[in-house]
Amino acid sequence: MPESIYVLIDHNGTNLNSASLETLVFGQELARETGRSLHALLLGCNAQDLAAQLAEYDIDSVIYAENTRLENYTFECQCEAISQILRADNPTLLLMAHTYQNLDMAPRLSARMGKALVSDCVGYKLSDGEILLVRKMFRAKLYADVKVKSEPPWLVTVQAGTRFSDALIRGSAQVINRQVDLGSVRINRVTGETVDFAKDRVDLSQAETIVAVGRGIKKQENMDLVRELADVVSAEIGASRPVVDNDWLGRDRQIGSSGQTVSPKLYFAIGISGAIQHVVGMKSSQCIVAINSDRNAPIFNVATYGILGDLQEVVPALTKKLREVL
Ligand code: FAD
Repeated sequence: MPESIYVLIDHNGTNLNSASLETLVFGQELARETGRSLHALLLGCNAQDLAAQLAEYDIDSVIYAENTRLENYTFECQCEAISQILRADNPTLLLMAHTYQNLDMAPRLSARMGKALVSDCVGYKLSDGEILLVRKMFRAKLYADVKVKSEPPWLVTVQAGTRFSDALIRGSAQVINRQVDLGSVRINRVTGETVDFAKDRVDLSQAETIVAVGRGIKKQENMDLVRELADVVSAEIGASRPVVDNDWLGRDRQIGSSGQTVSPKLYFAIGISGAIQHVVGMKSSQCIVAINSDRNAPIFNVATYGILGDLQEVVPALTKKLREVL
């Protein structure tokens, strides 16, 4: 369908990926502003329930390609299925979440189709009817407006946290079943067992609330303060780098340029100064509550609410109050 926008929806067979739903919000905005139709593209096997979930959003259709070879991700089958659909339909854009899986797949899809790929976009602009894609450069010091010169479809990955999935507009869409022929696809890479590399590893990018702690906590024995707060607000615990370097928390809890990028609804920054390397990983949080004893701490520049004070006093008081009201 020319003049249309497709959004690839990742899933694990049971749940739709939250970054993909954020990308769908991006798609809804872009479709509305450019007058294009919007279609969710779902690949899988026995994933009709997920297709039905997608059909409850304000989109024109859910294109569901079912094939046993799409049950588990392989870039070979994924690329082939998507190329067949894009070649037949010729949409303007294929939006994809900037997930690890799509980082693996999208460049191959781009090479296979000979189509432009604009990665890690955070927005778009419309200029004389043309779509410009906005991406950060040099650790967000500059923003580039990217104009694609080649023929559509353009392949675009969208950074997590750029939109919020609860902004998805509800509606009703038809599910269109599509055949893809994957019989001759040769799988060159065999994926072994999928292992969680740390059993209790958290994917902070999916967390709705994060209590993040910094060097201001001073020693490991004080960590219970933040654990109690996290418990009361049902949050995951995150950290700045010094906390991880001191082994007070595992490396998978680090947030920032060399850790995870997060975009929860609520982010507590406790005893965190707000160095740029930390802020790039959390500034798309919807609401940021910073607790710091230094009124000049840069974290207050990105905070929605700032609490100036000693965390040893503020955090227990806040936990007590929240326990009463929650
Ligand atoms: P500090 O900067 O030491 O800040 C501690 C804060 O606690 C201060 O603002 C202080 O006022 C406050 N405080 C102290 N006592 C109290 C108290 N009693 N009550 C309330 N507040 C108090 N950092 C990351 O976080 N993530 C990254 O991914 C990351 N990657 C990096 C990559 C590179 C290449 C480099 C060079 C650095 C990276 N860093 C990263 C480190 C980063 O530059 C900062 O050093 C780090 O973020 C600082 O952590 P912090 O805010 O916890 O500590």
